[in-house]
Amino acid sequence: MASIIADRSTSSVVDVLAIAAHRDDVEQTCGGTLLVQQSLGWRTGILDLTRGEAGTRGSAEDRASEADAAARILRVSHREALDLPDGNIQNTLENRLKIAAVLRRLRPRVVILPYWQGRHPDHYTSATLGYEACFAAGLSKLNLPARCGAPHRPYKILYASLYSDVRPTLVVDITEHIETRLQSLLAYRSQYSDQNSGSGLFVPEADIRERMFSTARHCGLLAGVRYAEPFVQREVSLTQDLMQIPVQTI
Ligand SMILES: [Zn+2]
Repeated sequence: MASIIADRSTSSVVDVLAIAAHRDDVEQTCGGTLLVQQSLGWRTGILDLTRGEAGTRGSAEDRASEADAAARILRVSHREALDLPDGNIQNTLENRLKIAAVLRRLRPRVVILPYWQGRHPDHYTSATLGYEACFAAGLSKLNLPARCGAPHRPYKILYASLYSDVRPTLVVDITEHIETRLQSLLAYRSQYSDQNSGSGLFVPEADIRERMFSTARHCGLLAGVRYAEPFVQREVSLTQDLMQIPVQTI
């Protein structure tokens, strides 16, 4: 079993890395899951691919300080942002190398990516871009400087599917952390505080709680827990003891 049980003494800088297109995507889709992992003793991190310069409200600088505040609330060990263009993320070799360099430096065992279908092109493009960067990061002859670290490929990739109309294959029970997760989202005050600019595009703060909790409740009901976050994994689940499989059938 040694090959599949994570080892806490590895050279990883973070154990679980969530990669997303935009600052606040992680808070919306898998912030509770990062809190659960941190409470289990794993080091968590966030890689935002863009800096939010195309947003209707707030500057990239505003969003940087908000992202720092949200990271503290989510108790992540590490957060950084790349400089891919907000609203125009492309799956290019240059971008794959940028992400691969981060993966080699942080050496996560688990990577969370956005689901590969959705409304926003940045989200679904990030799924493929992120997957291919994970693959590339493990290639010994990749064109990256040695200071980026040795080749590294994450063991597990999960796709956060909350933005997508797809049935999850896996949910994480976030019941104990849902209030903290809400606070991390509300840290993006330029996006969510009640204000006039872009009021047709943005959800008033009063609705955010209801929206987040109802989505989490729906996902929780799928698995018989109170609140959960949804994921899709491409691989099958493995078990031995049929008496221990979670989630009741009837
Ligand atoms: Zn987004």
